[in-house]
Amino acid sequence: MDSIANSRDQSVTQITDHLAQVRRRVETAASVAGRRTEDITIVAVSKKQAATAIAAAHAAGQRDFGENVVQEAVSKITAIELPGIRWHFIGRIQSNKTKAIARYFDWVHTVDRFKTAQKLDAQRPHYAAPLEICIQVNLAGEPQKGGVATDEVLALAAALKELPRLRLRGLMTVPPLDADLTTTGAAFRQLRELKSSLVAAGYPLDTLSMGMSGDLEAAIQNGSTMVRIGTAIFGPR
Ligand SMILES: *Cc1c(COP(=O)(O)O)cnc(C)c1O
Repeated sequence: MDSIANSRDQSVTQITDHLAQVRRRVETAASVAGRRTEDITIVAVSKKQAATAIAAAHAAGQRDFGENVVQEAVSKITAIELPGIRWHFIGRIQSNKTKAIARYFDWVHTVDRFKTAQKLDAQRPHYAAPLEICIQVNLAGEPQKGGVATDEVLALAAALKELPRLRLRGLMTVPPLDADLTTTGAAFRQLRELKSSLVAAGYPLDTLSMGMSGDLEAAIQNGSTMVRIGTAIFGPR
């Protein structure tokens, strides 16, 4: 019993420390970029992590959590009821999972098809606020990855206007895994420019969801407002 309790305390301390380190990285990157830390939200990516790890991060002040597998997420979301917690869906949207996504999540970062967006809109419960969404953009045209092509973003944004239960907040991207920081930085800059062009076209977007454990500095330098951080907070999966 004691050793279990100890190892649990240890992991709580570790998550608290890691979270403090990530917050410092965000602060430093914001300051280097001449931006305000308050304009950047850390989404703690808790996929494959236990409910106890989520509770530890919540106790350390973390409120936004990201998950990418619906079933795993729903079992945690329904088990953990912590005040002020916000759930972000960051995985591929399968059309037979839209109902659960619409019901349990506050944000969806990975909208890339009008058809699934229509289902999310129709299935968002009436008692809940509109679902906050981002269009995922596949900048490098990677076939195995979700996201719309750069030249399809405007058309999807226009179509989403007719879905009142969804609120388009911005754009999201995941750069190629093997890209170096220069290439990744260029991708982040490209997403920012794409968002600016949508703003110029009359879409009031305020969100750029980009940056993970390894590249949050490059993302913040290029205007990220939401960094999605897993391993740097929770350790390896
Ligand atoms: C897993 C995941 C992350 C977090 O990645 P880390 O490198 O662990 O910080 C961010 N975004 C998406 C879409 C993910 O699937």
